Amino acid sequence: SNLSRFSTAAAVQELITPQVQISYTQHLINGKFVDAASGKTFPAYDPRSGEVIAYVAEGDAEDINRAVSAARKAFDEGPWPKMTAYERSRILLRFADLVEKHSNELAALETWNNGKPFEQALMSELPMFVRLFHYYAGWADKIHGLTVPGDGNYHIQVLHEPIGVAGQIIPWNFPLLMFAWKVGPALACGNTIVLKTAEQTPLTALYVAQLLHEAGLPPGVLNVVSGYGPTAGAPLVAHMDVDKLAFTGSTETGKVVLELAARSNLKPVTLELGGKSPFIVFDDADVDKAVELAHFALFFNQGQCCCAGSRTFVHERIYDEFLEKAKARAMRRIVGDPFKKGVEQGPQIDVEQFEKVLRYIRSGKESNATLECGGARIGSKGFFIEPTVFSNVKDDMLIAQDEIFGPVQSILKFKDIDEVIKRANETRYGLAAGVFTKNGDTANRMMRALKVGTVWINCFDVFDAAIPFGGYKMSGIGREKGIYSLNNYLQVKAVVSPLKNPAWI
Ligand code: NAD
Repeated sequence: SNLSRFSTAAAVQELITPQVQISYTQHLINGKFVDAASGKTFPAYDPRSGEVIAYVAEGDAEDINRAVSAARKAFDEGPWPKMTAYERSRILLRFADLVEKHSNELAALETWNNGKPFEQALMSELPMFVRLFHYYAGWADKIHGLTVPGDGNYHIQVLHEPIGVAGQIIPWNFPLLMFAWKVGPALACGNTIVLKTAEQTPLTALYVAQLLHEAGLPPGVLNVVSGYGPTAGAPLVAHMDVDKLAFTGSTETGKVVLELAARSNLKPVTLELGGKSPFIVFDDADVDKAVELAHFALFFNQGQCCCAGSRTFVHERIYDEFLEKAKARAMRRIVGDPFKKGVEQGPQIDVEQFEKVLRYIRSGKESNATLECGGARIGSKGFFIEPTVFSNVKDDMLIAQDEIFGPVQSILKFKDIDEVIKRANETRYGLAAGVFTKNGDTANRMMRALKVGTVWINCFDVFDAAIPFGGYKMSGIGREKGIYSLNNYLQVKAVVSPLKNPAWI
């Protein structure tokens, strides 16, 4: 089969044996691992084979109620919001160090349950996780309000207080990193949390949540509930005692979340949603470098990135050369067991996503885009898909409009900068964009013209805890990371008192 052909490629070495056991499968509520109120469990899978690797507590409204009351109590009565920011900071630092120490086990568990290459989990996701907690630990004792002069007759203070109980819902594509983006800033600001993980990937969040308690987090501050969206996610969004909601996932579900939040207690909502990001290659580009970066921008993480460069726009003067090389690069991509060294691409997350990606490939063929390579399943078990490249893609084709979330590159031709700006922006999304050029004027013009939350110039997928991330248009509301996440988790209180002749004289 293709799979064994790919897996035995020269670059691939022996299996990296996962040194990990699945120790935590229950909800973590009020500092204790507990079964679901209903006693129900649901399966977690290995996407290499589709086999069940664990049964996990299946949360519903009752588990969410229990978790929210624990978080409420920990916020209203517990030590967390009252302890010094320095103490909170030290707990976060100890936690980051513990995660670093457990990187191998965590990366193995991430790969086992998600299918991403072990080397990528270990070398990329884990270090970013650790970095993020170090970054927000550094913020914890630097959050403060201000005083404002007003008309001179009043003493006016603006207090920045933690917002309260935060509900957080995360997706399955970067289970650990999404935990970090959500939990890091919320804790640094002194909030308590109920986190609902994605049903596909419940395992690593429970592992790190346990480490967070080992680092000294008081019970009830972080509660983790596993379960499905409509039965566990929706009750969290609708809960009257949740003060803030943060969500990452699809635009469709984001709309449901916003509506539910509005109908309940009008809790503020931040949303990180889908994208259809352009990656734009100008004719002055070094074609080999552009091909490599465009390939990475789309295929990284099995194509399962909200910011994936999923519309590769190439200038007509270099289009043919680019296409030949992009196709050759995709055909060289090493797909196989993500625990093997040198493997670049593992399986898609689950059967739904696998079938959805294959449906989009069919749609691409039916709409007369040219299938340059790939397009089929690899092997007969698990959810592996061939690296796929379409050329002659037109803006109105479904594959150029919808988020495919798989290893499918769409290459589009353009003539000049005005045209490509217009076409790049003609999408309901606005998450990110890549620009590849040697020309400073082109870069300057593009970075201002693109209606997106992140522009990567001559690079892609560069993430840092300090760089804000989020979308224009239907890619979301608000920003995460950097100083911007702090605002999501703080209330602002103005306190005004007279400077002269007050009641107490
Ligand atoms: P989803 O948006 O349905 O799921 C994301 C999270 O939301 C999960 O934790 C899920 O349990 C929860 N959820 C689902 N329905 C909910 C509801 N009614 N109320 C509250 N929470 C709910 O995404 P999916 O079904 O896993 O994937 C579908 C598509 O979404 C993908 O193909 C991809 O296009 C996109 N996606 C985007 C991201 C991203 O990072 N932006 C991540 C995952 C998926």
